[in-house]
Amino acid sequence: MGPKNAMEIFKHLEKSNCRECGEKTCLAFAGAVFTGARSISDCPRLSSETKALFSKGPGQVGDNGGEYFERLKGEVGACDFQERAKILGGTCHKDRLTLKVFGKDFTVDKEGRIYTDLHINTYIGVPFLNHVIHGRGVDPSGKWTAFRNIPGAREQANHFNHTTETSLKLLADARRDLFDDLVHLFDAKPVAPQFQADISVLLHFFPKLPMMICYWDDQDELGSDLHVYFDETAHHNVDPESIFYLGSGFTIMLEKLARRHSA
Ligand code: SF4
Repeated sequence: MGPKNAMEIFKHLEKSNCRECGEKTCLAFAGAVFTGARSISDCPRLSSETKALFSKGPGQVGDNGGEYFERLKGEVGACDFQERAKILGGTCHKDRLTLKVFGKDFTVDKEGRIYTDLHINTYIGVPFLNHVIHGRGVDPSGKWTAFRNIPGAREQANHFNHTTETSLKLLADARRDLFDDLVHLFDAKPVAPQFQADISVLLHFFPKLPMMICYWDDQDELGSDLHVYFDETAHHNVDPESIFYLGSGFTIMLEKLARRHSA
């Protein structure tokens, strides 16, 4: 059986982000191996035991988003889309369920095919299907908490800080118009600054899964800072691992956008 997600591969990597494999980070490499776009042997820094563990064989890491992704695509067909749409805050039309993801329409059909204007990476496709199948649709409470405080998330908190918060901070430091892009492209809403931040914006991963990004300017040479907060009900609507991947997938999208802007 292949890895259930990219994190299972990531755990075995050196995490040095040396780029010898051609990817910008070890996490990006793990995601590419999981989706079948790259081979585990492309990382020159792994032992042959680890390479053997994740070498691709027929029916292991699939070509179309990984075995786990394929399994979710099979499971989604059994869902009552009318009922799921009502629970999750989406719509259902002709056997297709549509949810807003970062303000964009994501539609899934009974075969698990996803239709959207955004480029879907596995970081977003897997959590989306997981949410469609398992999300409980609990309404947000309006109380914010850090990723590490979400039940079950502690183990991945350092990775989240590294792959999402630090990366977003570097983007925001380099490009202050990043927040304008968030507003225009991902339906983010500027809100009254929270936690004494200089900028706070509210986004929605899913209709009932809001996320708030807070940015603090560099003042008194203490350096800038950025943190991401989730509603205290987040773990009822999606598992912490999916939140981790949504954060990573979102950051990867923004980095691509920033590269396009500066090209
Ligand atoms: S070569 Fe290996 S250690 Fe270096 S960035 Fe790629 S995956 Fe990470």
